[in-house]
Amino acid sequence: MMELNVDRLRALRRELLGGEGAAPAPEKPALPALPARPPTLCAGCGHRGVFYTLAKLKATVTGDIGCYTLGVAPPLSSMDTTICMGASIGAAFGMRKAGYKGRLAAVIGDSTFFHSGMTGLLDVVYNKGAITVVVLDNRITGMTGHQPNPGTGRTLLGEPTVQTSIAEVARALGVKRVHEVDVYNLAEVERVLKEELDCGEPSVVVAYGSCVIAAKKAVGAVPHAVDPAKCKSCGACFKLGCPAIVRGEETAPGRFRSKIEPAACIGCDVCAQVCPFKAISTTKE
Ligand code: SF4
Ligand code: SF4
Repeated sequence: MMELNVDRLRALRRELLGGEGAAPAPEKPALPALPARPPTLCAGCGHRGVFYTLAKLKATVTGDIGCYTLGVAPPLSSMDTTICMGASIGAAFGMRKAGYKGRLAAVIGDSTFFHSGMTGLLDVVYNKGAITVVVLDNRITGMTGHQPNPGTGRTLLGEPTVQTSIAEVARALGVKRVHEVDVYNLAEVERVLKEELDCGEPSVVVAYGSCVIAAKKAVGAVPHAVDPAKCKSCGACFKLGCPAIVRGEETAPGRFRSKIEPAACIGCDVCAQVCPFKAISTTKE
């Protein structure tokens, strides 16, 4: 609302100069009503399954700054706080110390963890904070343009360098419970998260899955498809919020079969894993 956009700056300049200065902005052409396109995680993004699982496990999630902050948006709706870089860990720790008894996860990206998450984690260990820190490790700095970070294994100039392991950093900081999971294996993600959220000790889950943009969308090579004969319009896959999953035929008022846009889908398989009727599968021969 208070953005200093071009129109506002032009008006302010005219006001300051007593009507002089830049000419008023030209009239904007009327645009047709466009469908709303709220921001969302990319099709096939590895963060999606982790947020889906945290919501399923009814965890309170303190979030951080990165593309994964989009976990706050519906239908995932799986992030409860976002303050500033590194704050996820301190916020969760503070909630626990203030007496919160429920499942509590601090979710932070790899780059943010290296930037300002490690200090918070050390504080949690030292002060016996029973929280789970989930590091979404896509081995890149996604939101600001794919800059390398200490986990990438190459410098800003592209030279090979030390590739820092987040699991090893966590162990070095004193965390006893450290797990590494594949974000595209939902059963494993759920098993490990459930165990760690209920363990009553500081724990770290490093959730690996390359950024699909940085990896040039290579996750499954071919798209998935919905078998309309098996789809029961239950809506479970829609809860993932993957932009490749769209409404198909309306089978009852307000109930839709799902359909997958092949040009957008990268075959990550997460929707196939959540469909209770096995209606989604790869199109690979
Ligand atoms: S497999 Fe499913 S969840 Fe993954 S990108 Fe394709 S439609 Fe989206
Ligand atoms: S989860 Fe499966 S059955 Fe339910 S709407 Fe999606 S494809 Fe259809």
